[in-house]
Amino acid sequence: MLLTIWLEIHIKLKSENKMFCQCKNEQNFENLQANTNICPVCTWQPWALPTLSEEVLRKALILWKALNCEINNPSQFDRKSYFYPDLPMWYQITQLYKPTNVKGKVSFFVDNEYSQERTIHIQDAHMESDTGKMIHQWWEALLDFNRAWTPLVEIVTLPDFTSADEVVEFLKELQRIVRYNNIADADMEKWQMRCDVNISIREKESDPYGTRVEVKNMNSFAAIKRAIQYEYDRQSDLYNKWEKFDQQTRGRDDTKWESYLMRSKEDALDYRYFPEPDLPPLLLDDSTLQHLSASILEIPYRIIKKFKQEFWFHKEYINAIISDKETLDYFLDILSHCEKWNEKTNAPLIKGDLGGFAKLIAKRISWPISARMKENFKSINELNFTKDKFQQFLKIAQEWKILDNQLKIVMDEMIKTWKNPEEIIKEKGFDKPAIDNNELENIVKLVLQENPAIVEQYKWWKTTTLWFFVWQVMKKTWWKVDPKTVWDKIIKELS
Ligand SMILES: [Zn+2]
Repeated sequence: MLLTIWLEIHIKLKSENKMFCQCKNEQNFENLQANTNICPVCTWQPWALPTLSEEVLRKALILWKALNCEINNPSQFDRKSYFYPDLPMWYQITQLYKPTNVKGKVSFFVDNEYSQERTIHIQDAHMESDTGKMIHQWWEALLDFNRAWTPLVEIVTLPDFTSADEVVEFLKELQRIVRYNNIADADMEKWQMRCDVNISIREKESDPYGTRVEVKNMNSFAAIKRAIQYEYDRQSDLYNKWEKFDQQTRGRDDTKWESYLMRSKEDALDYRYFPEPDLPPLLLDDSTLQHLSASILEIPYRIIKKFKQEFWFHKEYINAIISDKETLDYFLDILSHCEKWNEKTNAPLIKGDLGGFAKLIAKRISWPISARMKENFKSINELNFTKDKFQQFLKIAQEWKILDNQLKIVMDEMIKTWKNPEEIIKEKGFDKPAIDNNELENIVKLVLQENPAIVEQYKWWKTTTLWFFVWQVMKKTWWKVDPKTVWDKIIKELS
């Protein structure tokens, strides 16, 4: 059976103010006392009228460019009836008939090797105001309007997806797009990004789409994957039994790992859309459009492509660099310094080109920098391994005096101790003369003599104990040799 999936994604925009009033647009409501971030506009007092925040519009328009959309000019806002008491005006403002951003497309990599590409089409990306919150306490329902009329953008795709992996990789790309360009934080755990998934199956490509089932409001990649798998199995099972099912919306009960029926089409709510009378049509002037066309955006897909094509980066390097915007900027900054530094001093670049530098920087970001970031729950800038320090490190690396595995240790010590690289090299003895073959063989023999019990173990356990010897020899040689050479020598000695 073939899977067909399309998505409706809500992303909370990061702006100073709410969408239609001057209240602060808090990114995290959890710590905020109820109803402390409200005003006459977002609580719908009779005299108050909404005005669209320019910043919200600008961010929505940047997204237009990032998603390669076409633009409707003019576009308009519409009223959508809302049937719960957490919005005092009983409607949401959205864009149904003439949304600003239409017909976009997003390219991304589907596999974690970054070798397979996909393009997904966007039907529209429209602005929408969020609702308030209802809190149920015993027999009462309390209302909190802090979130009322905060800005959202809803992105609706075409039914282009054929697997759960595609969906997840697309969402990751989307998350990077909005984060890199400061449109939104899109933290799913904080509900700053959530996703409705529409799933149907059919036997072959030429068949019409099967009856779709919508699973609403998911806020983790794992939940989305599970929901798609569950629906695929459930629908295939019904299909095989020749049973029909109706178009329906299902919510997710994650404790049961399956979707349950929320509402079927028969009682689907009628939202009664109509053009918003309080807001004029949105007309963009030429200078705004020109300004937008000229603005340069950071598109992760393009960055990954460049890394692959220009620098032949390994997937581990790419993963480390693109993990967040700060790390990406850090990498690009050091790289551009290297370029300038090289022009100024006319020093030969490592391995003769910028790619050599890029590789060295990427390698060290993937280890030890990323490891220390994770260990200490810090961002790259909080780690205090400044770009100046990285430059000091690169100078040492460029002199070619110490080995790669020593360089690794030098940087790790620089991060942990704040010492300068020369000091560390001296302390660790990395400045001692290189070890010749005879001396290395003697050290290997010595290590084996010192550990008869483990040599005995080797007979039974073979390679698992070898790393112990490698480590001992490396220590005694001040990391002057590469582990592979040591490994070979030990095997030779033991055979
Ligand atoms: Zn307000």
